[in-house]
Amino acid sequence: MASEELIKLVSETKKQLEHLRVLGVEGIQLSTVAAPAIAAAEPKTPAPAPSAPVTSLFGDLTPAPVKLTKSTETFEQIHAEIGDCTRCPLHLERTHVVHTEGNRNARLMFVGEAPGADEDVQARPFVGRAGQLLTKIIEAIGMKREEVLIGNVNRCRPPGNRAPMPDEASTCKPYLLREIAVVQPEVIVVLGNTAMKNLLGTREGITRLRGNFQDYKGIKVMPTFHPAYLLRDPSKKRETWEDLKKVRAYLDSHRSTDR
Ligand code: URA
Repeated sequence: MASEELIKLVSETKKQLEHLRVLGVEGIQLSTVAAPAIAAAEPKTPAPAPSAPVTSLFGDLTPAPVKLTKSTETFEQIHAEIGDCTRCPLHLERTHVVHTEGNRNARLMFVGEAPGADEDVQARPFVGRAGQLLTKIIEAIGMKREEVLIGNVNRCRPPGNRAPMPDEASTCKPYLLREIAVVQPEVIVVLGNTAMKNLLGTREGITRLRGNFQDYKGIKVMPTFHPAYLLRDPSKKRETWEDLKKVRAYLDSHRSTDR
């Protein structure tokens, strides 16, 4: 093929791909088999370096989505590493470190902000009034509390139940992310603004994002209101119920066989 023709072809192809990208297309399937007519006409050239798979030919237009890699760690190893943690100032006033609890093969996980007074005493997440409401929410979608996984971004109670500071959250969050990588739940429900922002790293608020599935490395994330907020404003229970129905519908339409 003449070089001007080739340049024109590449330029036209780029334009087409850009057009598709603007339309929202995130990737195209390319055949790994060269078209016979072109293959026959092309002189034999050395194979390209194996670092560039065929599907990333125009990879600058289609960034690969980040997928969570399954971890072989155990919760026991993670919790042993956390130990009698003093990595952030929250340790100063806590009674107990409150770890994630529940089914380690869970399809569904709930993530809150940080333990409150009851959780701090009992060393278990979501056991106070907000926790009792969370249990009812779980049962309302036909599941048992023991079936799901429940944790928090921060494992120590902030004094006066204030929201954890950004540096406190970023110190503790990696342990939650490691647990998520162990279990790989199909859906994570994030409870409230602080948990949502800390897990997803988003600037959008809960009122805007709730009810719409977000993504954490290939895992569906449903932001919804925190049960403590529902105790203060029960009128928000209706929206929370709508959000949880979407979670139920997703789990029903993706029946998992290997758990
Ligand atoms: N609120 C949270 O965010 N987490 C708990 O464990 C309890 C209350």
